[in-house]
This record gives sequence, structure tokens and C-alpha cells, in this order.
Amino acid sequence: MNNIQFIDEVEIREKRILLRVDFNVPLTKELTIAHDVRIRQTLPTIERLIKGNNRLILVSYVGRPKSRDPNLSLTPVVKKLQELIPAKKIILVDDFLSAAGQSQIAAQHSDEIIVLENIRFYPEEKANDPEFGKKLATLADVYVNEAFSVNHREEASIVQVPARLPAYGGLRLKKEIEMLTRVMQGAQKPFVVILGGAKISTKINLINRLMEVADTFLIGGGMGTTFLAAQGQEVGKSLYEQSAIEDAKRLLEMSFTKHTQIVLPVDAIVGRKDDMQSTQVVKKMHEIASEDSILDIGPATEALFGKHIDGANTIIWNGPVGYFENPAFARGTEYVYYAITENTHATSVVGGGDTVAAISKEEYLQKITHISTGGGAMLEYIEKGTLPGIEALKK
Ligand code: ADP
Ligand code: MG
Repeated sequence: MNNIQFIDEVEIREKRILLRVDFNVPLTKELTIAHDVRIRQTLPTIERLIKGNNRLILVSYVGRPKSRDPNLSLTPVVKKLQELIPAKKIILVDDFLSAAGQSQIAAQHSDEIIVLENIRFYPEEKANDPEFGKKLATLADVYVNEAFSVNHREEASIVQVPARLPAYGGLRLKKEIEMLTRVMQGAQKPFVVILGGAKISTKINLINRLMEVADTFLIGGGMGTTFLAAQGQEVGKSLYEQSAIEDAKRLLEMSFTKHTQIVLPVDAIVGRKDDMQSTQVVKKMHEIASEDSILDIGPATEALFGKHIDGANTIIWNGPVGYFENPAFARGTEYVYYAITENTHATSVVGGGDTVAAISKEEYLQKITHISTGGGAMLEYIEKGTLPGIEALKK
């Protein structure tokens, strides 16, 4: 932290600023924005930089384009930004490398904000191409990183540009680092980690690291099912990771030597993924049969998890504990969310793309100490204590 400067610690005035943001928002079929939280979260940084009479050039991607793709244009984002920042004219530059794009940027007026078209339309971005990084850097005098959620990626706009310009962290990036450092270094016990989601394999290193600091793991979702299968439990047709069974066994053994408790579901909601009617049934674990699919935690597990969450002084949550995309199986995840918001004495950090999407009830969001904008980035930061994009800001 010490050798990074954030924008509230320096005076940046009358500069051209390349501001890396994360506007990777979910788009609907009609190309409107389903959730604009990610855009709104960047507003304090944008507003602060505007106050300094700076000219902003925003850089982001949306979706996973292989090359130019009109369905993944930043046009809907520009529209939304225009609504949120009516005092400025928001201009989309279709191709900053073209002569037309270059002259648009050269002519930027102080009451305009430029947004570069989806940066992943250029394959050089993901390839972390130094030449491409250089071309981006020539557009500005200063670089600001306000894209915590992509800081685990070694991509040109994240690591190449800050190597070539005075580089600073944004307000949100600062909060992410402060909060995650606080839970990992100054955690008050009991420290409870709630994990869910589809896979263990992508989160094994994270679990290893958290095993060092946490007292209790509450594990649901597909991940929980894999642990149950590793214990020899019948899991029927449920989603679980056959290839991660050995890892799950090793983690269960490790939990004994590290004195960390792993709490698994004791009952489940079984049903069919696509069944929107409420024909789902509650089953105790020993009742799960070969044709069953575990799609959510059951009420006894809710109560069990709830007891641990109530008693916690530090909480980290990543991963829905059920197939929440179908509301019939979203109850367990909602329950976990409410239990965390009810615990007002704990420091709570929640992160993950799907996790944050699952907790839609905004009125309670402020009861959580910190909602991380990063899914993969948050997990990797917890695991390693830093990220490539953060390293690139160090002086
Ligand atoms: P995050 O994006 O928050 O890190 P993940 O991507 O790891 O979370 O996992 C989210 C996915 O896991 C969701 O699509 C959810 O439906 C799925 N999931 C969780 N529990 C189950 C389950 N029991 N059966 C099927 N899918 C599940
Ligand atoms: Mg996900």
C-alpha cells in the first residue's frame, strides 16, 4: 500500500487522464444494462477527477469479444453514463487507432468525457502487447486504475500503460485494498468463511490460504456437494466436481491439523434445475437418492450456517449456496445474505460476480462492511496479498 499513490493523496489538475474502469456490466438481449452498479461505483473517482479540470478518457471492456462485435459495443454504457453525468458530453471513440479516432481525442473539450470502444475488440489487449500499451499511453499524461476487478489480469491497459505514465489508484481501488488487508491481517475471531458456487478447482489455493486464518468454513453450493461426495455421501445427479474429490479429501484432512472447522450441509432442497414450479422437496442428507439433484441448502443447514454467522466477528462470503438463477432455489443464498446483514458486530466482506448478482435487495447492501467489486480479483488478492495491476502502480 505504502508505495502506491491514490488520487485523493495527490493533486492532479488539468491533465489528460486515461482512466481504466470496469464497465463489464450484464447486457440484456435488447442491449440495455441489467445492473449498473459497476458504473455507479466509479462515479466518485470520475467526479473527483473532473473537479480537477482534467480531461478523462475511459477504458473498459464488456463481455468476451474475440474481435469487433456490435453486440458488445460500449454504446449502452455511454448512454447510461450520459444519464448519470448530465453536465458532461460523453463521446464514444469507435477506434482510437484510426485517424478519425485520433482527431476526436485531440479535439477533446474540457466538458467532454471520452470513452474508448470495447478495449477487447483489440486482441493486443488480452495479449498484453507492449506496443499496444504504448499506443494507449500516448493518449494521456496520467493513468488512473479504478478497475480492481480486473487487476488480476496481465493485460495491456492494466499493466503496460502504468509502466509508461505517472500512475495512481482510484478511490474504489483504495477501499478494496484497505478492506481486504483489514480482514486478512487484523481479523477479529471467530473468522467465518462462507463458500459456495459451482467449483472447487478454481478456488483451492484460496481455501488453502484461508485455512491459515479462518476458524470455520461453511460450504454449500456445488462446492459443498463435492465435499459431501468426498465423504462418501450419495449426491445423485447433483452438480459436483468428480476431478476435485481428491483435493476435497485433502482439504478435509488439512482442516483437522489446522484446527479449522469445515461445516457441510445437513439437508438440501432437491428438484429439477429448470422447474419453476415449487415442486422441490427438502431431504436430509441420508435421504438423497441416485435420481436427486441438490440445488440449494435446506432449512436445517440454514439454521446451522446461521448460528455460525451470528457468532462471527469477521465474515468473508464468496459463492451462492444454491442454483439461485432459478428463484425456487435462491432461498438458501438469500438466507446467508440476510444472516450476514443481521450480524452488525462483524466486519463482513462479500465478493464474486454471481454472489453480488444474487443479492439483489439493495436496501441491505450498506449493512455489509464491504462488497468487493472483484470476483476473481478478490479471491486472488486474498490468496496472494497483491495483484499484477496493483504491482504495476507501485513506484
Ligand atoms: P462467484 O461468481 O460469485 O464467484 P461462482 O461463479 O463460483 O460464484 O458460482 C456461481 C454459480 O454456482 C451460479 O451459477 C450458481 O447457480 C451455481 N451453483 C451454486 N450452487 C449450485 C448447485 N447446488 N447446483 C447447481 N449450480 C449451483
Ligand atoms: Mg461466477
